[in-house]
Amino acid sequence: MTETRSVVTGGAGFLGSHLCERLLADGHEVVCVDNFGSGRRENIATLRDHDSFSVFEADLREEPELPPTDEIYHLASRASPSDFTDFPVQIALTNTRGTKYLLEHAVEHDATMLFASTSEVYGDPEVHPQTEGYNGNVNIRGPRGCYDESKRFGETLAVAYHEKYGVDVRTIRIFNTYGPKMRADDGRVVPTFLKQAANGDDLTVYGSGNQTRTFCYVDDMIDGIRDVMRCEALAGDVVNVGGQNEVSIRTLAQTVLEICDTNSDVVYEPLPQDDPTKRRPDVTKAQRLFDWSPSVGLMNGLRRTLKSFEKPQDGTIG
Ligand code: UDP
Repeated sequence: MTETRSVVTGGAGFLGSHLCERLLADGHEVVCVDNFGSGRRENIATLRDHDSFSVFEADLREEPELPPTDEIYHLASRASPSDFTDFPVQIALTNTRGTKYLLEHAVEHDATMLFASTSEVYGDPEVHPQTEGYNGNVNIRGPRGCYDESKRFGETLAVAYHEKYGVDVRTIRIFNTYGPKMRADDGRVVPTFLKQAANGDDLTVYGSGNQTRTFCYVDDMIDGIRDVMRCEALAGDVVNVGGQNEVSIRTLAQTVLEICDTNSDVVYEPLPQDDPTKRRPDVTKAQRLFDWSPSVGLMNGLRRTLKSFEKPQDGTIG
């Protein structure tokens, strides 16, 4: 039997590298496509010796000649709000031009594609929790617009290619996810707080800290991504995947202080523009279609992440 060949764009990134590892464990041949902008070589260092693993260094915006494939997991795109100021054009084009290019590749090779969309398509939501049917509240011209709006258009392209060319493309809306292999300097709240606590620095809570998020441990998210690719009923469709335990950022800070042996305190800094006030996915559809629910609790997940950060190969804190 020949192996399923899976192309993972953003394969050296946080989620991408975990996904490559899982696909190899599942017996796939894996082609990791990355331009190493935010992806890191150390994330895939342990996979390099695997016979079924290869790295294709390229930028999707330049439409590289990718190999034929059975599956495409399109995860490429910087996803940290702190990158939106420095890389707005790159982000906007990776999620639009890059997505169009991969959809064409899927047509050509009759591949199944997973498009990694985001909770950001809901913007600062007026519907809570967020269901897939909610159309969102995005500031198209604001600082998050390059990411939010390009993911939204990526979804539109996915629907168009499904309708027009019959491409089997499934869209997953990924909510806040954390775990080993995130960059300690990534800018997102979990690695930032863990790094600050480990260094004895004060934790920088933005705004009042009353804004809420759910946090999904990476292993649960990778389960969800694999489930979406296996779920035939999702051809051309979209599904939310994300944590269920909604916490305020202030509570997250307290939790990090509890698990880290630290003298750190909390300091309050201005809230960035358009920072969503609340966020929690309605995952009824994921539960119904593929029986998904997260299994790793926040304390446990934070401890695992902290431990991994102490190992040099996962990015030393400091
Ligand atoms: N945040 C914070 N301090 C930080 C980094 C982030 O209080 O040092 C807040 C941020 O304002 C947001 C939440 O934590 O309300 C989650 O931010 P993150 O950048 O991780 O992801 P987002 O959900 O905004 O995409």
